[in-house]
Amino acid sequence: MSRETDPLLEANVDQAELDKFQSLAKRWWDPNSEFKPLHDINPLRIRYISERCQLPEASVLDVGCGGGILTEALATAGAQVTGIDLADKPLSVARLHLHESGLTEQIDYRQISAESLATECPASYDVITCLEMLEHVPDPASTIQALSKLIKPGGQIFLSTINRNPKSWLLMVVGAEYVLNMLPRGTHDYAKFIKPSELSGMLRSASLSVSDITGMTYNPVSRRYRLGQDIDVNYVVHAQAPQ
Ligand code: SAH
Repeated sequence: MSRETDPLLEANVDQAELDKFQSLAKRWWDPNSEFKPLHDINPLRIRYISERCQLPEASVLDVGCGGGILTEALATAGAQVTGIDLADKPLSVARLHLHESGLTEQIDYRQISAESLATECPASYDVITCLEMLEHVPDPASTIQALSKLIKPGGQIFLSTINRNPKSWLLMVVGAEYVLNMLPRGTHDYAKFIKPSELSGMLRSASLSVSDITGMTYNPVSRRYRLGQDIDVNYVVHAQAPQ
């Protein structure tokens, strides 16, 4: 398995955040593991994305792809996808899983940061996805700047992260990690949560325009997720690059 040169010498990475995903990587594709929430929300987010852009034949970059749950769904929808992450173990799992799913021709996984890839191949992607990743990086604005360099003129960018307020702390940290045990304790650092207004500001500073913000909510009784207007906790953003 080829490693890129010194990917971890990057400034915009928190090793402790990567370690959380390294140690759990083997269970990434187990739908009843710590990654159950990602498996459960995947149909909703692929529907959100495919309703807002053309995935068949598109050149797509999936930033912070982890074990490849979203990456494979994008490829299954017909896209040619590059998945990037800085944690090597989830990437190994993702590469192995490709053989099981028969998607080796459509997906390329690389251990490289968005910032380095932006220097290597600017304006290369029709669509960029960066889901559930920004709340793990030290400087999300730097990631957004990199995405704006990587996207082709007129391209579509999809982001998701967690809002920062007492309700999101209660549900995502106390509820998900301590009461329902849906996620390992310490998965999320409240201080890194990002308000939609802050994310919109980062996008505007990178010359990207916000077309939509939609909430993703979890009902602990029905154990179902849905998309809707409530952006208090998890939310998805669709942004566009200028022509
Ligand atoms: N986007 C995937 C995985 C989300 S888990 C999905 O939604 O299904 C968060 C991922 O972000 C992990 O794989 C972690 O290794 C990665 N990550 C954390 N910090 C990163 C950074 N600075 N650069 C790239 N990837 C990072």
